[in-house]
Formats: sequence, C-alpha cells, structure tokens
Amino acid sequence: MGSGLWLERRLALTGLPRDQESYMARRRIIIVGGGFGGASAAVQLARKIAEPLAITIVEPSHQIGPGLAYSTDDPTFRLNAISGPHSIDVADPGHFTRWCAAKGLAQSDPEARIANGELFVRRRDFRDYLVETVRAHLSQENGSTITHVRDRASDISVDEQGVAVSLEGGRRIAADMAFLAVGNPPLRQPAWASGAAAGHPGLFAEPLRTSFDSVERDAKVLVVGAGLTALDIVASLLARGHRGSITAISRRGLRPEPQAPRVLAPPADPPQPPVIPLDLLEGELPAYATGEPLSALDLFRGMRRHAAETDATELGWQAAFDAVTLPLSRIWPNLPLPEKQRALRHLRAYYDAHRFRTPPMTDAMVRAREATGQVIFRKASIERLDVDDQRRLVAWLQTPDTGHTREAFDAVINCTGFDNGRALQGNSLLARLQRRGMIAPHPTGLGIEVDMQNRIITASGESIAQIRAIGPMTAGVFGDPLGVFFISAQVHRLIPGLAEQFGLTLTSRNC
Ligand SMILES: Cc1cc2nc3c(=O)[nH]c(=O)nc-3n(C[C@H](O)[C@H](O)[C@H](O)COP(=O)(O)OP(=O)(O)OC[C@H]3O[C@@H](n4cnc5c(N)ncnc54)[C@H](O)[C@@H]3O)c2cc1C
Repeated sequence: MGSGLWLERRLALTGLPRDQESYMARRRIIIVGGGFGGASAAVQLARKIAEPLAITIVEPSHQIGPGLAYSTDDPTFRLNAISGPHSIDVADPGHFTRWCAAKGLAQSDPEARIANGELFVRRRDFRDYLVETVRAHLSQENGSTITHVRDRASDISVDEQGVAVSLEGGRRIAADMAFLAVGNPPLRQPAWASGAAAGHPGLFAEPLRTSFDSVERDAKVLVVGAGLTALDIVASLLARGHRGSITAISRRGLRPEPQAPRVLAPPADPPQPPVIPLDLLEGELPAYATGEPLSALDLFRGMRRHAAETDATELGWQAAFDAVTLPLSRIWPNLPLPEKQRALRHLRAYYDAHRFRTPPMTDAMVRAREATGQVIFRKASIERLDVDDQRRLVAWLQTPDTGHTREAFDAVINCTGFDNGRALQGNSLLARLQRRGMIAPHPTGLGIEVDMQNRIITASGESIAQIRAIGPMTAGVFGDPLGVFFISAQVHRLIPGLAEQFGLTLTSRNC
C-alpha cells in the first residue's frame, strides 16, 4: 500500500486529526512489540504528553496487550498478585481495580476474591482489560493516536532524523524514536525434550501456548520444573478433573510460596485505589541494601534478618522481601558485576521461589491434592526421555535419595522456563541488531546492555537515545523488570526524559 493511501486509511480509522499537515508535524514514536510493555508505553505516552503524538505499535498478533502471558483462555490461570499493582499506568494505581469493579468481576468470578476483599483476577480478564484500555486510547482529544501495524520488525536503523523500522512484510516506518518491547526470551528446549521423545504426542515442550485437552484424565503426568507455570498447569489439570498422579520435579526441591493474604487496602465500596504508591519503588531503601560496595551476601543476609523480624507480624516475611524487590531497579545497578553474577549463581533459585508467588487459590488447590498423594513434588532432575515398546514416555530421573531411576509417564510437560542464553538469537530482530553491533548482550547473560535511561548501548559502548528498551530484556541492568508493575514503572520513569529530548510538555497525569 502506498504511504499516502496508508495515511488516509489510518486517518479514516482514527478520525483524528483530519488535516494532514498537523499529522505530519506530530512526533512519531514506534513501539516494537505489543505485549504488556508495548501497550503500557503507548497508553502512558498518550496520557502523559501534552502535544499530539503519532504512536505506532508493530505487533504480529491481532491484539495489543496480551503478549505471551495474557493470551490464555484457561480460567484457572490467575494473576499472581492482587489487582492494584496490575494497572497499565503505575501513576494511576486504581485503574485496573476500577475496571474490575465496573465489570463486576467480584460477582462474575467469586473465586477471585480473598478474605480481605482483594481480587486475584483471571489472566484472561486482565487481557480484556489491556485490550480495552488500549482501544480507549486510540485517539486522544489532543490529537495523539495509537495505530496497530500487524507485522514483525526485522531491522531498525538510526540516523540524525530518528529511526526507521523495517518490517518483514516489506514496509519501512520512520519515526523520531523507538521503544523495543519484545518481551521474554524463548522457552528453554532442554536436550531431553529434543531427543528420542521429540514429537511424541504426550510430550508438551511449549506449555504456554498449548492446550492440555489431549491429556487423558487418568494419565500419569510428569511436570519438569516447579515454578509458577508448573503450578498453573497442575491446577489447570486438576480443575479439568484429572484423576491420575501428577509429579512435579525441580532440581533444588523448591516451589513457589503462596502470595501473602495481607491487607494492602481495606475493601471499600466503591473500591479505593490500593496502597501501592510509586513510593514503594522510589522510597527509602533498607540500610542493608545501601552498602558501598554492596555485596550479594550482605544483601541476602540483610533480607534474611529482616524477614525473620517481619515473619511473626501480620505482614509476614513477604514484607521484608518486598522491601528489596520493589525498589530492586535501584539496588541491582549498585552491585558490582561479579556480585551480580554471584547472586544469579547462588541466590536466583531462592529469589524466584519467594518472589514469584502463587495466587492463594491455586496454592490451595494444589496443596489439597498433595495431601491426598495425587500431586507429588520431588527434588529430582531429568537426564533423558525415551519412548518404550508401549509408546509410553520413560524419564531417566536423578534424585538425591534413590540415585538414578527410570519411570514411565503418559505425559511429560516442560516447565523449565525461559532460555536466557537464546534471548538474542531466539528473536530474529535482536539477532540482526546484535550482528550489526547495535545491541550487546549483558555480561550477566540477562538481556542487553542499556543505560539508566534505558537507551540501548552498542557493542562499542555508545548509548543510542532514539531507541529505548523496556521490560525483561533490561533484566541484566535493572534486576527484575519482569512484572507488570515494574514495566509500567520503567515507562513512567522514562517519560520526563523523553519529553525533554523532544521538547514536549508533560500533562498533569505524570504525577
Ligand atoms: C505465563 C506468565 C504469567 C505471568 N503472570 C504475571 C502476573 O500475574 N503478574 C505480573 O505482574 N507479571 C506476570 N508475568 C510477567 C509479565 O507480565 C510479562 O513478562 C510481561 O507481560 C512482559 O511484557 P512484554 O511486553 O515485555 O513482553 P510480552 O508480553 O511477551 O510481549 C512481547 C511482544 O513482542 C512481540 N514481538 C517480539 N518480537 C517482535 C518483532 N520482531 N516485531 C514485532 N513484535 C515482536 C511479540 O509478538 C509479543 O507480543 C507473567 C509472565 C508470564 C510468561
């Protein structure tokens, strides 16, 4: 489609602005990736910049917002925290809670409610919230628009004028700047899953995009990994009436802790914004997190001491943990590189088990069946997966108690998480940018190098102000920018600098 025709069609779709000259004068921002990060960036830019912006999101799937995490229809999969921190705009912490109230989710999904009135909403409802919220911001009174281009970016080039994003479909879109919001690395494909059993109908190698309808109710199931996804899948099988045994194995025998049922805000009618202000990210750090130089061990010991103090209180150990994880983006950059590497090597599994907590209803469902012996958590690792004469899957397990064992299963589900080692090679755009030296892998192995304003840093160490990376790909620099709250906060933090870069004004929504 010629650019004039495309422009006309876009103007016809948004209805704003009619006059082409003012359209051409708008600052153009292109966002590559339309998952939560891309959606949050678009909505926050539209709300917080006074001048009209032409925001384009390049995203191959048909909706803006869901990404990998929230595309699911499975009613068992819930958000892993209450509604408050899941606002698309961290500066408007009641936004999602108000949406839930307006939709009557507490009534239509009573299982979402916990004793204090808070909701652990289904992920599919959160998807609807994101899609609706983006839709509501497609055209703003000030002339800002959000346009979805359904394609995949294959390359980005930069010059004094700004950026040009090439699309796989052949088009090239010019803009003043770009956000890179391409999400998590691909899922890990362990060697055991690509050996003799590859292609077996009972092997589920990509659990986030799979339906488990083909798993027989009496099937004996092995879940490899025991993180949040594993628990979600166990709960989903149980909710569908699974009767067979389900064994979840993990190398260290750890599993996610349940989310604290603490009162973050008293239930109120109409609901009030919960008490998750930006101060939790920006407030004072615990003294043990401010050492110079800061060491991973000091941080760990400080957290343990603090957790022991708060464990007996109503807030529980989670309060001590959150005192570090909420402002982690300010603590992690102060750890020298060897300390970061030490923390990832020795503490990561413990961090993950305490940070990524299970919704209480998922935890309760799984524990109830654990009590009957149907669900078993074991400390074990899988070495090989074969197929026997009866076409059953045979797992070669190594356990600390029994050493090597072989056990047959009807279904084996790979929940070993994301493959950080393939974060760049696993995405053709990132692979190309790396080949051209425009991005460089972070030395921790997590994502790419960016500066404290999220500008990408080239292989030769130069910051590129026209391209800002957000979300999981900035984990090496910021530690844990993975959850919705943290990604939204990253965008919020960047907007004043962007406004200054382009001579724009902030609205009062940038509070
Ligand atoms: C299963 C799961 C459950 C989670 N649950 C929670 C939760 O309950 N609460 C919470 O706070 N956090 C949760 N998270 C974490 C967090 O919400 C997600 O990681 C977050 O959605 C990441 O957002 P993102 O936009 O960076 O990535 P994604 O949502 O994955 O979006 C990235 C998008 O980029 C697109 N893309 C990739 N490459 C290109 C390209 N070259 N061109 C164009 N588009 C491209 C993809 O199509 C994709 O839509 C969960 C994560 C997962 C995986």
